[in-house]
Amino acid sequence: MAAGRPLERSIGTLMTIAENIARIRANMAAAAREAGRDPKEILLVGASKMNDAAACREAVAAGIDALGENRVQEMVQKLEQHAYDGAPLHFIGHLQRNKVKQVVGHVALIQSVGSLELLDEIEKVAAARGLVQDILVEINIGEETSKSGVDADSLFPLLEAAAARQNLRLRGLMAIPPADADDTETRRFFARMRELLAKADAQHYDRAQMDILSMGMSHDYAAAIAEGATIVRVGTAIYGARDYSKKA
Ligand SMILES: *Cc1c(COP(=O)(O)O)cnc(C)c1O
Repeated sequence: MAAGRPLERSIGTLMTIAENIARIRANMAAAAREAGRDPKEILLVGASKMNDAAACREAVAAGIDALGENRVQEMVQKLEQHAYDGAPLHFIGHLQRNKVKQVVGHVALIQSVGSLELLDEIEKVAAARGLVQDILVEINIGEETSKSGVDADSLFPLLEAAAARQNLRLRGLMAIPPADADDTETRRFFARMRELLAKADAQHYDRAQMDILSMGMSHDYAAAIAEGATIVRVGTAIYGARDYSKKA
């Protein structure tokens, strides 16, 4: 997609990425104020999967706080194309152990650490490279068998393990509630995440700075902000519907 070209929106109007970001920012600020929060404490991360380098650059030019990618191969390609220059990059998708090398040190934050095996691999690579990698622990808040992330029951042992690794820094928690949950259920999942973050922060883990709660997407970011999100990850509402008929 060429920079500046309008997107066909499902509602039939034409909106550019910049206009979409401006509208989302306004909604985010309204949700923050309604919750008695400072809008500045909530970051908008563009979930850029299946959108090309030009679309990413357009989001950066429009002042997005960070971009998030799901697939390692796509991310590596877009890094080579300088798609993310000017904004921090986050990894937000399911990460396989054999691809950790391509991610550690290349992103400001890995949001999706949901197992001890993955944690250890990230530590190993970060140590070998002499850097400290910021991470979030992903929680399978809806306890869905199909989803990655740690169960809430196993969260604290995983956090303790992370705190014992010298080359990791715990920054907080991330979750994706079940897609079929209704608004009330989703809100309850978000509230539960806020409670878990507070409990985790109260443990004062070594090197941890538990100030990030990443939750909320295109359809539910306002509810996530009402329940304390400090990062919302938005794709469709910024870039338009993803075209799954094209190969990414
Ligand atoms: C795609 C994706 C999003 C954004 O989803 P939309 O519904 O398009 O806003 C957020 N988080 C993760 C982990 C994603 O993969």
